[in-house]
Amino acid sequence: MYKKRIGILTSGGDAPGMNAVIRGVVGSIIDENTEIFGIQHGYKGLINGEVFEIKRSDVAGIINLGGTILYTARSEEFKTREGLQKAVDVCRKLKLDSVVVIGGDGSFRGALELSEYGIGCVGIPGTIDNDVTCTEYTIGFDTAVNTATEMIDKIRDTASANERCSIVEVMGRNSGNIALNTGIAVGATAILIPEVKQDFAKEASDRIKLMQGFGKKHFIVVITEGLIEINKFAYEIKKNTGIECRTTILGHVQRGGSPTVRDRVVASEMACLASLNLKENIKNRIIVLKQNKITDIDINEIQTFKKDFDFALYKKFLQILE
Ligand code: ADP
Repeated sequence: MYKKRIGILTSGGDAPGMNAVIRGVVGSIIDENTEIFGIQHGYKGLINGEVFEIKRSDVAGIINLGGTILYTARSEEFKTREGLQKAVDVCRKLKLDSVVVIGGDGSFRGALELSEYGIGCVGIPGTIDNDVTCTEYTIGFDTAVNTATEMIDKIRDTASANERCSIVEVMGRNSGNIALNTGIAVGATAILIPEVKQDFAKEASDRIKLMQGFGKKHFIVVITEGLIEINKFAYEIKKNTGIECRTTILGHVQRGGSPTVRDRVVASEMACLASLNLKENIKNRIIVLKQNKITDIDINEIQTFKKDFDFALYKKFLQILE
């Protein structure tokens, strides 16, 4: 009897909640007519045929796990015509009817290319940066900002005890979403983000001097990775304000850990919609959050979006002076 065969992979940067998606898809799609195959190491593993059949028992008890049981990778080879052809050949050889791709913008571009070769794809947004253009939310973001907040709350204790300025670099790739939300949550004095181009050291120093005028003695500055070398930034702030600075790069702690309730719930809901599409043979869709509702769009639309940064939220942050 014909059985529908569906592949699933995680690609690009890992994010807490990817396992919740895998569980949700597997748990809602397997039936007497449908089998699901885990593809390890993203597109790299697809090219190399790293594929195994997933059973329900394989995804039991993983909803709370960070990372991804399918592993993730980046693949330059997949971006070449030959690499893509190899991936398509593997899908055909395995008789994969379609592939569920969990990842970010880059991974969705890859899914679009696969779909152009006749391999049906459904994308689910998973990345801590919340920088995927076609969706208001990406799985992993809530966990990452909660982790960053918890870490900076601890850093604040020592900044306060020593009357220092703690400068904390957070992730975000080219997006200030993690910095903005975390910065607001920790009551940062300055938040530096790529969307607002300025003299970053001057802006932070001016905000510190303003609040020094109110008698404030310790400060937290949150800065997005990649904007300015953090020690040079600290040196400039010390020079401008006289305050002793300490720097912390939060790094990969932001990618790990058990997903928050929000990430588990969004992951499960998005997984169910992906499965529903595949059961009804609706392919080449990306599951998104739009106007706070989980829905889906055509994969060809992904290139038409431009993500709006929440400048209104940034302006509100600037209003609060303590
Ligand atoms: P993310 O999915 O989190 O944005 P990347 O940008 O690293 O992460 O993309 C993940 C993988 O998707 C890449 O290693 C590559 O294999 C594939 N990919 C990225 N961009 C493209 C593209 N323009 N065309 C085809 N495949 C791509």
